[in-house]
Amino acid sequence: MNRCVRNYTISATRFHWWLHHADDGRNSRRTELQADIVYLHKLWQDIQKKSLAISSPALLYQDLDLSHRVLRDFVNADTYRVRVDSRETFQKLTGFAGEYMMSDLEKISHYTGERPLFDLYGVEQEIEKSLARRVDLKSGGYVIIDQTEALTTMDVNTGGFVGVRNFDDTIFKTNLEAAQVIARQLRLRNLGGIIIIDFIDMDHEEHRAAVLAEFNKALQKDRTKMTVNGFSALGLVEMTRKRTRESLAQILCETCPTCQGRGEIRTAQTICYEILRELLRESRQFSAREFRILASQQVIDLFLDEESQSLAQLGDFIARPIGLQVGASYTQEQYDVILI
Ligand SMILES: [Zn+2]
Repeated sequence: MNRCVRNYTISATRFHWWLHHADDGRNSRRTELQADIVYLHKLWQDIQKKSLAISSPALLYQDLDLSHRVLRDFVNADTYRVRVDSRETFQKLTGFAGEYMMSDLEKISHYTGERPLFDLYGVEQEIEKSLARRVDLKSGGYVIIDQTEALTTMDVNTGGFVGVRNFDDTIFKTNLEAAQVIARQLRLRNLGGIIIIDFIDMDHEEHRAAVLAEFNKALQKDRTKMTVNGFSALGLVEMTRKRTRESLAQILCETCPTCQGRGEIRTAQTICYEILRELLRESRQFSAREFRILASQQVIDLFLDEESQSLAQLGDFIARPIGLQVGASYTQEQYDVILI
């Protein structure tokens, strides 16, 4: 290692310091760091070798493509197997592992089955679940996750009726399970920034302490930098998690065009009244023989049924006929008032 350039020697020394001072509970991290050192060292040697062999200007190194990055960043001693359904990628990965990650070479296998890999392991469903607002708990409770620009809130709830007799116990168990599930969801969804967790209120101080301990334990699987504060005066657990890449939702989703991200749309009834006010405005401003309302099926249905009287009254008031027409592609909030 001493033959390396100065920069690398410094970081290697720091790695050594870390290896000697890290506590014993972090053995797996130590192994990972050692693997990292070996990998980086080999990589640096290859870059140096290459630099001597080619003439400048030339590209000496660029970050790996996705499949290689997955292999480098996510495969460790706990990984059981890496299945690849493309022969080309499989060959590239085994070539890479043979050179840099010898101990993981055996784990990479080429999948040639008929069923798509994502189906075989239910990946689609897992993605769906990782984007859902509600996560169900085995104990019957559930967690509601809301991600806003400023922070993420996680609200733990018991499912349905909780018996009076085992009230405290049920709540305690639900919170314990939620602690594990939340720690996992933070990683799966890659949530960063401020996170506020609202566990179900617990009367016993030792229950609160146990839930917090369970939560901290579950968070140890997470490689991302975090700080967790205890229960606040309002009974909330506040924490921060370093923002690395984008969150899963930011990568896979875009703002809903129907509600513009509000998560709600105005009811068909609200739209009906908006249209009636618009009609009145237009009838005062323009002279038309007739008016026609173009709106979504739901809104037109209301005008034909519940709101038919309001429409008839307005028609009488402005002394003009008002026609209705369904706009097939109209969302519930969309409408036009046409002058004829
Ligand atoms: Zn929406």
